[in-house]
Amino acid sequence: MQKFILIILILAGVLSAKNPKNVILMISDGCGYNQKYAAHYYLHGKKWSPVYEQMDLKISLSNYAQDNPHYDGNKAKADASYVNFKPTDSAASATAYACGIKTWNGFLGYNTDSVAVKNVMEYAQVKGLATGVVTSVPFSHATPAAFGAHNISRDGYQEIGFEMVESSKLDVIIGCGHPYYNAQGEALNTPDFTKAGGEATWQKIVSGTAGNDKNNDGQVDYWTFIESPAQFAAINLNNAPDRLIGIARVSSTLQEQRAGISQKVGDVPKNDNVPQLNTMSMAALNTLGKNKNGFVLMIEGGAIDWASHANESARVIEEEIEFLDAVNSVVNWVEKNSSWDETLLIISADHETGYLTGVQDTFSGWTEVQSNGAGQMPGMQWNSKSHTNTLVPFFAKGTGSTELGKYADEKDPRWGAYLDNAEVGQYLINLYR
Ligand SMILES: [Zn+2]
Repeated sequence: MQKFILIILILAGVLSAKNPKNVILMISDGCGYNQKYAAHYYLHGKKWSPVYEQMDLKISLSNYAQDNPHYDGNKAKADASYVNFKPTDSAASATAYACGIKTWNGFLGYNTDSVAVKNVMEYAQVKGLATGVVTSVPFSHATPAAFGAHNISRDGYQEIGFEMVESSKLDVIIGCGHPYYNAQGEALNTPDFTKAGGEATWQKIVSGTAGNDKNNDGQVDYWTFIESPAQFAAINLNNAPDRLIGIARVSSTLQEQRAGISQKVGDVPKNDNVPQLNTMSMAALNTLGKNKNGFVLMIEGGAIDWASHANESARVIEEEIEFLDAVNSVVNWVEKNSSWDETLLIISADHETGYLTGVQDTFSGWTEVQSNGAGQMPGMQWNSKSHTNTLVPFFAKGTGSTELGKYADEKDPRWGAYLDNAEVGQYLINLYR
């Protein structure tokens, strides 16, 4: 009898889901289903790129903030204006992902009682994991900031940047917000240090004296600073520093805010003095991947949101292609340097922006963008300059996908099963509690 129980216990152990050693969370800021379809139609004439077809979990995600703490799929389907009412912002949604809680728009790592809440990176750091953030917008912007700072206002860029660099225990910070360059990547005569933690912080970053005691061994762990595309590309698993801060030579976004008006994808030459999001992501993985205990990495395609606010169809497609390149590179990195048995990849968004639909005679709510074949602009219609509360696509691959899927106990009449952004945060935090 005892033997029997022992066998049961062993079997249960083998069959129970293994917790991931590594977690990679990729957030496409402002990207709903139609932003994804538009990019994929343009690239392949198909709704989904192969990498998304190969995901283990393909569901949706709700993302409302505490300002309007509801999502009702039946109402969203019946009333075209339902999803316009008080949608989440990136700060509240990133806080849901990072801290597992719903909060007010504008809050970063604070709950609705204005009390600071620990984020998943802080839980993972205590367990000896490496942690990092990558973004195509300033590193102190809302989404990465929720994973490295606590602030009652997402607009406190200088404080947030300072906290991420000098107080957080992150191992990787990669993004934009370079004080000495403008949105075109041209040198500035008058630097702007706001997005990089202020002038004193910036001087310390550049001189290699920024940092703190990350692992409580009594020694200061200094940041290694990189800024050129060649420096980003050169970071590999053998030469990566312990702590890497990479600030691309541009103020706001890698590409989205460059001058000119894009009518077609790629018709305005790109900034050539910055790395691509996938190069930045590889530098981050090669740095974090050295930690034997595993890592947590958040990668944001930050400017899909900016292009969607501006209703710039061609730049939305450009940005989502840049994000897709990063997704493909991340998948390849995992298959080469790790495996799906020990790594969990999550790909989603924080909210939709622009209420993007197909072309309609009279606006009647959400419809799919229309494919005009590969290489052609799809039929796209913008119905808002702001965010919406609509569901966004959610994907996962690797160990933990099944466990994560169990949170998707709600059903939307249009998109089927969905989970909530705060539930993703709760799942992640529970891995390290
Ligand atoms: Zn936005």
